[in-house]
Amino acid sequence: MKLPFAESYRIKMVETIKRSTREERANWIKEANYNLFGLKSDYVFIDLLTDSGTGAMSDKQWSAMMEGDESYAGSRSYYNMKDAIKDILGFDYFIPTHQGRAAENVLYSIIIKEGDILPGNSHFDTTKGHIEFRKAIPVDCTIDEASDTQLEIPFKGNVDIAKLEAVLKKYPKEQIPAVVLTVTNNTAGGQPVSMQNIKEVSALCVKYDVPLQMDSARFAENAYFIKTREEGYADKSMREIVREMFSYADIMTMSSKKDAIVNMGGFVAFKSEELWKSCQKICIMNEGFITYGGMSGRDMNALAQGLHEGTDFEYLETRIKQIEYLGQKLDEYNIPYQRPAGGHAIFVDAKKILTHVPKEEFIAQTLGIELYLEAGVRGVEVGALLADRDPVTHENRYPELELFRLAIPRRTYTNNHMNVIAAALKNVYDRREEITRGYEITYEAPIMRHFTIGLKPAE
Ligand SMILES: *Cc1c(COP(=O)(O)O)cnc(C)c1O
Repeated sequence: MKLPFAESYRIKMVETIKRSTREERANWIKEANYNLFGLKSDYVFIDLLTDSGTGAMSDKQWSAMMEGDESYAGSRSYYNMKDAIKDILGFDYFIPTHQGRAAENVLYSIIIKEGDILPGNSHFDTTKGHIEFRKAIPVDCTIDEASDTQLEIPFKGNVDIAKLEAVLKKYPKEQIPAVVLTVTNNTAGGQPVSMQNIKEVSALCVKYDVPLQMDSARFAENAYFIKTREEGYADKSMREIVREMFSYADIMTMSSKKDAIVNMGGFVAFKSEELWKSCQKICIMNEGFITYGGMSGRDMNALAQGLHEGTDFEYLETRIKQIEYLGQKLDEYNIPYQRPAGGHAIFVDAKKILTHVPKEEFIAQTLGIELYLEAGVRGVEVGALLADRDPVTHENRYPELELFRLAIPRRTYTNNHMNVIAAALKNVYDRREEITRGYEITYEAPIMRHFTIGLKPAE
């Protein structure tokens, strides 16, 4: 008999989580103004709001914490991080920051000016926020196939090369500070970008003399998909694939809370010594001295160790197979989601489920509230709330897809939890015809409104 798959680790420490009643949850979500970010975590049974900073560190990472060097300047921990970034990713220069968006702030404060254009595949929400805040424009050049959730193709996060070239042709290079390639493409469903596509994007960047920035939060998951799906990579090691991916990048921004498996941290890395130097002042003003940025020594140590573990094939296989497992459960119940299953999350296709809720009443958010009420499972909306208003016209933007993201924290939940999530979704799915109204906005911030939005049931 063929042996079934099992996790490549065992459990050494546990944390209790609490169940609740439907009645309690109905009160709690009302108090939170129907914003899932507004819930106390104690009110959540299975928390899939994000896979960012929510993973379990290993025994080796915890022992690296004990050895953290808290010197203000030139600490051993800084050099541990520098060595890991050089060995694994191939960058000579870097600045530690407190998380990914801080890396964006350090970089974009230097390279972006008003009116600039930053093309790429789907920009992450904080990336888009940092670009639009500086009155520059992110242009999404993701392949059209990414918006057909039922289409099963291996690299749905890819850039449409013709779309990208059109943008590069249209504007002078002085107006394009970088092409932003997000690996994996979070917004499109944690979908990977192929090495072939990375090469083609890089070739265009060379041709038009524009730097390539990789937004690299989930670079290791992307590399796993290249190894398992792309011709010619099956026999390459994870390390070789990662090094090849970054050989095409000039700059990388990193949220270490993802594939470096730490609870807090990030960095921006450079091939150019000159750009590294000009970004240092922004780090000193906003983050801290250049050898710790926004991080303590112990956190830099855990991050360095996390880069090693996060690029280990056995770890990645365990992680990605758990996402696939949840996808298979949803297949059993005929629940539509962005196919194939992504690297860090399942993106449920809310538009295909709640067909009676008008888009003006926030379809994916409505599904998310129903799922919370059903079982205390918390995910996050990737739909019209996240898409926000057009910065010029201030009209609501209604994206083609209304997705509800179930992000799976690393090394945190078991497949029994996946079973509960899938069953809860099935129960909502079974009563989908009865759900006809969504929510309306009672409060919104002028930018990145989804984090703090207030809602009430639509009347
Ligand atoms: C999480 C994330 C960021 C921002 O990082 P934070 O650590 O949350 O500030 C940027 N880009 C991508 C693709 C991400 O997933």
